[in-house]
Amino acid sequence: MKKTIVNCPNCNKEVEWRDDSKWKPFCCERCKMADLGDWLTEKNRIPCEEEPFSEEISKTIN
Ligand SMILES: [Zn+2]
Repeated sequence: MKKTIVNCPNCNKEVEWRDDSKWKPFCCERCKMADLGDWLTEKNRIPCEEEPFSEEISKTIN
């Protein structure tokens, strides 16, 4: 049977794509969680986007 090799989206390590691989396309739980964490952090940043903007305004005022 032909092996399918993918690269882990987090650490870029080559991972064999198997039906029973729990963390695909990641190589391990740690990478899956790290990527999910990044995604959540990215999402959480969105409501904070106004902050640097108001900082810019106060700089202009001062
Ligand atoms: Zn990985």
